Amino acid sequence: MYDLIVVGMGPSAVFLAYELIQLKSVKKILLIDQGRSIEKRVCPMEKIGRCVNCKPHCNITCGFSGAGAFSDGKLNSYHLSSRDNDGSLYLGGNGAEYFKKYMTEEEIRDLLTYTDNIYLKFGADSKLHGLEYQKEIKKLQDKACKNNLKLVSYPIRHLGTEKAHILYTKIEKYLIETGINFMFETEVTDLIIENGKVKGVKIYNINDDKYEEINAKKVVLAVGRKGASWLSDMCKKYDINTKIGSVDIGIRYELPDKVMSKINKYMYEGKFIGRPFPYGDKVRTFCQNPSGFVSAEVYDDGLTLVNGHSYKDRKSTNTNLAILVSHHFTYPFDKPIGYGENIAQNLNRLGGNSIMVQRLGDIYRGRRTWDSDLKTNSVKPTLSGAVAGDLTYGLGYRTMSNILQFIRDVDKVVEGFANPDNLLYGPEIKFYSNEIILDKNFQTNINGLYSIGDGGGLTTGLMMASCSGVKMARILEKK
Ligand SMILES: Cc1cc2nc3c(=O)[nH]c(=O)nc-3n(C[C@H](O)[C@H](O)[C@H](O)COP(=O)(O)OP(=O)(O)OC[C@H]3O[C@@H](n4cnc5c(N)ncnc54)[C@H](O)[C@@H]3O)c2cc1C
Repeated sequence: MYDLIVVGMGPSAVFLAYELIQLKSVKKILLIDQGRSIEKRVCPMEKIGRCVNCKPHCNITCGFSGAGAFSDGKLNSYHLSSRDNDGSLYLGGNGAEYFKKYMTEEEIRDLLTYTDNIYLKFGADSKLHGLEYQKEIKKLQDKACKNNLKLVSYPIRHLGTEKAHILYTKIEKYLIETGINFMFETEVTDLIIENGKVKGVKIYNINDDKYEEINAKKVVLAVGRKGASWLSDMCKKYDINTKIGSVDIGIRYELPDKVMSKINKYMYEGKFIGRPFPYGDKVRTFCQNPSGFVSAEVYDDGLTLVNGHSYKDRKSTNTNLAILVSHHFTYPFDKPIGYGENIAQNLNRLGGNSIMVQRLGDIYRGRRTWDSDLKTNSVKPTLSGAVAGDLTYGLGYRTMSNILQFIRDVDKVVEGFANPDNLLYGPEIKFYSNEIILDKNFQTNINGLYSIGDGGGLTTGLMMASCSGVKMARILEKK
């Protein structure tokens, strides 16, 4: 019998464990992840140049520190400036809602500062991007505003992929030394719930090929986007209250550093948000990686999605960023995750199970891109395993026209953003659409069952996921 079982070992779970140790409260804790310990997490793409669909689980997204291990490690320091339209603290993603509902602005700032300091303690870069060039940023923001775009600015700490790995390795070592129990390469296949109360989890150990039940007084779900589909099944099975969230579908865009030079220099990451004509859907840039590399990650049922990251020392000459369109569905359709999965499956099939890449100019001309086109293209793809093709076969008309109009709009602020040689990779989809309804203690309607991080739709990035872990620990300590 454990006092607490945490499903998943992404940043939300890791920071929960860290904070519980500081608080010296919960005694017997078990963290379970289907992936490996951080030392054993290696992505073969680095060596062989293409994704080999690691079995049983993708090394980029699973294991100690979850999707954080190979992330770009951009830590958003929202607490240091950034204001939303209404003048309140800007927090990015959906989870802002929860934090703003139950915490004062001062409490949120304290939580962010505390979490940021943990990152610094384990070796995060003390340099903050986005503070120095306030005048220049304001100019760009004004230009964006004149073109019906919002350009959000907040300071960013950049770890870089290799440094993120080192930092999380240090945290893993620290947690092991303090006696936290870990179970790697173990899938949580089911929850044990009786009379509206959680009793534990059912697990399958991949190496021993063994099923088992483990009891716990409390269970925290910290399954990230990787576990969003499984979590959605659990919600249906046990009547865990959810609301239909949106699904963000789009592409990864790659263009020369030279085009993005001002944004890269002044802000490191520029977040453009627009509502392009004619649909007025929310379209935004996300996860910008100056001098970075486009990457692939594999989800359940072999779905391959595109992402991007950048190293601290190894550099390309391209910037990549996501362009995402928010899709909100209304009654009677209630399966946004399934919708996103279908799009991804179609594009994966069309690309022979690889990420597909197309030149912007080819989309305008109504033709597919061929390998030979990429060879002579001025922007060279940094994802060598990407297959040249036609994204318009897989992305819906509404999604595609939103993306194309948005690119034209941003081009008015960043000259060259709509150059025909720029590359679109697909599919990039963010599965945080299964939003679990939580009370102020992150508790679901099942007694003793909690949810934190990206998986239940509470957060959408490293910093807020980590914050949700710290906050969860403090809540558990008081209970
Ligand atoms: C390439 C890449 C670059 C990124 N760059 C950035 C960035 O620069 N800045 C930023 O803010 N964010 C970035 N992100 C996103 C960031 O990594 C996530 O927001 C963050 O990791 C979410 O943390 P989490 O704890 O919610 O879940 P995750 O980190 O997704 O971890 C969830 C864990 O749960 C495990 N799991 C799921 N289901 C089960 C199950 N049933 N049984 C056992 N284990 C399970 C998974 O194996 C995984 O290890 C990036 C992500 C990727 C993939």
